This record gives sequence, C-alpha cells and structure tokens, in this order.
Amino acid sequence: MSETSRRFLVGVLLLLLAGTFIGWLYGRPDWGLLGASLVVLAWLIRQLLTFERALRTDEYDNLRYGEGIWEQMLSRYRFEKERGAQRKKSYQLLLREVRKSTNAMPDGAVILDAHNEILNCNRAAKRLAGLKRKKDRGQRVDNILRAPELVKLLQSNDYDSSVEVQSPVNDGIWLNCRVVRYGADQKLLLLRDVTERIRLNKMRRDFVANASHELRSPLTVINGYLDAIADDDSIPGTWKNPVAQMRAQAARMRQILGELLELSRLESAGPSRSDEPVSVVELIRNSIEALAGHDDVAKITTDLTSTANLRGNSAEIETVVVNLLSNAIRYTPADGEITVSWRSDADGSDLVVADTGEGIDPENIPRLTERFFRVDKGRSRDDGGVGLGLAIVKHVLARHDAELTVTSESGAGSEFRCHFPPDRLVDEEPVPLS
Ligand code: ADP
Repeated sequence: MSETSRRFLVGVLLLLLAGTFIGWLYGRPDWGLLGASLVVLAWLIRQLLTFERALRTDEYDNLRYGEGIWEQMLSRYRFEKERGAQRKKSYQLLLREVRKSTNAMPDGAVILDAHNEILNCNRAAKRLAGLKRKKDRGQRVDNILRAPELVKLLQSNDYDSSVEVQSPVNDGIWLNCRVVRYGADQKLLLLRDVTERIRLNKMRRDFVANASHELRSPLTVINGYLDAIADDDSIPGTWKNPVAQMRAQAARMRQILGELLELSRLESAGPSRSDEPVSVVELIRNSIEALAGHDDVAKITTDLTSTANLRGNSAEIETVVVNLLSNAIRYTPADGEITVSWRSDADGSDLVVADTGEGIDPENIPRLTERFFRVDKGRSRDDGGVGLGLAIVKHVLARHDAELTVTSESGAGSEFRCHFPPDRLVDEEPVPLS
C-alpha cells in the first residue's frame, strides 16, 4: 500500500472515530458513527463527481489539489493518457513508414481474407492489376483478376506454386502470381511484373523455331545431294566412308531440327485442348512392338492394370511413351529388364517406365529435362541421343496437367513415372490383358 493510500485510510478512520467519540460524549456513539460515515460518504461522492467531470471535460482546475489519493489518481491518469498519446503517435509513424515502404515496393501485394476478399493492397497492385485500396475493399480478388489459372491457385490453397497471367489493366503486362500464408486465416497475394522475362523467352523460342525452320531447306538440299552421291557407283572408294559419315551427320541434324521445332511448338502452345480419348494401353503395346524384338534389347514386360483412357493428344502421348521406352532400352543392357506399367487409383493414373539399367546419379536427376542435357554426352551422341527427348516429355506432360517424377540409383536402374490427375481420365471397358 502506498503512503498516500495509508494516509487516506487513517484520515477516514480518524474521522469515524472522532464522530463516534462525539456521539459517545452525548451518550449516543452509534449516532456519532453514523453521522461521521455520512460525512465521509458525502465527501467521497462529491470528489468522485468532480473527478469524473474533470476527466470528461479535461478541466482539472475544479479538482482540489492536495487531497492525497485523488491527486495521485489524477496524476496517474494524466501520465497514462500522455503515454497512450505518445504510443499512438509512434504507432502512427511506424504505420506510415510501413505503408511508405510497401508502396515503394515494385511488386504488388494484396492482403486477402479466408474468402479471397480484398482487405488491403499496395500502390504497385493498383498499377499492375488496377486494384483500388478503398473501392475494392471487400471484393473477391478473383472477380477482378479473372484468369482461370489464378482462380485455381487461390482455390487450391497451394503456397508453393505460382502462375503467370495477363494484367487486367494492360494486356501487354504479364504478372507472376503467388499466394503466401499470412496471419491466422489471411493470405498475401504477391504480383510480380515478369513481362520482360516472358518477352525474352518468346524471343528465344521464336529464334530457335525460326532458325530451325530456316535450316531445314538447305539441309534437305544437302541431304538430297548426299543421297545421290552415295548411290553413285562412280565415286572413288576413298569417298565412300566420308560420304556415309556426312549422311549420318546430316540425318542427325535433321533429327535435332525436328525435335527443336517440336519443342518450340509445345512451348508456345498452352494446355492441350485436345480431348480425344487416348488408349494408353494400345500406345504402350504399339511402341513395344516397334522398339523391341532386337537381340541387344533388354526383356520388356508390361503391367497394364488400368482400364482408364486419357483425355488428350494421342500423338503427343505416344511421343512420351516412345521417348521413355527408347531411353530405357538405350540405357539398359541386354540382360536387364524393362517394365512398362499403366495403373490407376483414386488419385489418378500412372504411366511408369522402369528399368534395371545403369541408373542416374542423384545430382543429375533434376537436370534431366533441361534441353541438351546428357549425363554422358559422347555416349548419348553415339547412341543417336540428342538430349531433347525428356524436355519434350516434360512439356507434353505439362500440357496434359501431368507430372514427371524420376527415381534412380546409379548402377541400379531408373523409374520414370508420369502422373495424370483424375480429371484427365475417362473410364473405359476393361482392356483384355495380353
Ligand atoms: P537423349 O537423347 O540423350 O536420351 P533425353 O533427354 O531423352 O536425351 O535424356 C537425357 C539424359 O538422361 C540422357 O542423355 C541420359 O543420360 C539420361 N537418361 C534418360 N533416360 C535414362 C534411363 N532410363 N537410364 C539412365 N539414364 C537415362
């Protein structure tokens, strides 16, 4: 208890005692105590009302100073009030700084609630996506940014992926959109201008496609002459081998150009709109028939338990099967084994090509789908490999909403798994197992 509180209590007690004493002198101590209590009560009520008025009106002159506990309460109140005001001021300054820095950010940031309704956004979000802080507050962001990819991303609550969409205010601006978990049930939508990267990518794609296209015609002429020279019996014997090599290299160039053109086509096309039902089982059987049957090819077995057909582009899916199977054949010795499976469950279907071949070092696995990446360049080239097969596989799968997973151990074989989601599948009559 503070000194002031003690003095206040002693004062009240003395007053009550004095009242009782005076009452006792007159033979009625109880009346004396009652009288003194009423005086104390009246004084307290008066002080309380004055105090309340002082707080309400901010006029402290009417409050008598020097009355211990009331003065202490008043100075405490004024101290807290001043501290509160100072705190408010520093929070306001901090808030202004935070707002200034978020507004200075080149990337758009939009705070969303659990229903994807806009709570707040910075200036870049206005510039990039036309969002207005006050006007759009409470609006669902997918009503303003209507790209289906973004709607899907917001609905899936996927915090690892990002999508690229055109800005609703300017077709020429491309935005990379990412969702970050924020607070208890809020999200932060980050918008980054990636127009320059998209433009450079397009330039690179166009350049590769144009260069490949332009190189095709001269190569056809060279090929034609080489074929004619090779068929000509009158050429000197010393030329036979160089001509054969030139023909082989020209054929290889044709293959590279063909694959580059195919890759450019796949890259510039969006998701496959083709909806034809593709019998994966049939494609697998046809590919095995075309590629197997040579002495140096490992034994190929199948595990075709799924009855599902794929919705997509048959020629493109065939490219996937042929690429994976020919790789397995190429990198598995003749005494090894290759298994091609097509299985389904509630999560979708898997096309799996597994082999017991030479396998791949773990550090090379993430690079397999890069263009022209080959673990052993010389070896792959001798085998007729270009290093574009898996890049094409990856693009075809992306166009069919599918994903490629590679598991492998050096020396112990590899497994290439293509996972197709359920909405890419159509259930068909069971395919008779061969
Ligand atoms: P390539 O035409 O060289 O086969 P790909 O893009 O198809 O090009 O494959 C890239 C590289 O991945 C290959 O050069 C090879 O090193 C490796 N690879 C692909 N499939 C297999 C496999 N089944 N086993 C071992 N290595 C493989």
